[in-house]
Amino acid sequence: MSIEENLKSVRARIGAAAEAAGRNPEDITLIAVSKTRTAAEINEAIRLGVTDIGENKPQEIRDKYADVLPGVRWHMIGHLQTNKIKYIIDKVCMIHSVDSLHLMEEIDRQAKKHNLVMDILIEVNISGEASKHGIRPDELPSLLEAAGGMENIRVCGLMTVAPKSDSNFTNSLHFDNICELFVDISRKKYDNVSMRCLSMGMSGDFEAAVKSGSTMVRVGSAIFGERDYQKP
Ligand SMILES: *Cc1c(COP(=O)(O)O)cnc(C)c1O
Repeated sequence: MSIEENLKSVRARIGAAAEAAGRNPEDITLIAVSKTRTAAEINEAIRLGVTDIGENKPQEIRDKYADVLPGVRWHMIGHLQTNKIKYIIDKVCMIHSVDSLHLMEEIDRQAKKHNLVMDILIEVNISGEASKHGIRPDELPSLLEAAGGMENIRVCGLMTVAPKSDSNFTNSLHFDNICELFVDISRKKYDNVSMRCLSMGMSGDFEAAVKSGSTMVRVGSAIFGERDYQKP
């Protein structure tokens, strides 16, 4: 299948899942996850209407940035070390994977240096799996309190990665749980926090995520094909 056919099918599936849940498909942003993919492949996707791309490694953003068509929005979706923030701070529109106070402080500091305000999402480990990044739900209030004092970040919502091995049914439960948390926090008033983005759903589970209330799905292999990590 070509990228064109894959994209068409993913978009149709997002649309159908949204409609089945009584949601407007336009409220869901498709982020095409382009890790291991070349700038040429990314540009093909952009020509087919992709507006948002996601990468999980700062290095890949740095390497491809100059060769990718301008105007597309880059999202940092993978685990981020503080010493790598400087490579991406002026390139991405959003960092999805903020999972500590220290990281938040460093993003704030680097953003200030570049005279910009960075949109961030807090990554929550909703399944409690030890191998997953993200904070526990009960750690969220103190992190959101701390964000209130930081002028160069803006907390826009939550992000989660559901366990790969689980069935869509269990992942639906995880997605429902994080959505509940999301709605809960939206009702509370934190300075500098506006809960409008819920980033969840990947190739294997984006329809379940949309049904549970996701506003951003991060889809890689269903668009670009299976990844080959051996490729140079
Ligand atoms: C790779 C990746 C995705 C996309 O995964 P697919 O299963 O290929 O759709 C989504 N989110 C994160 C954080 C990723 O690293």
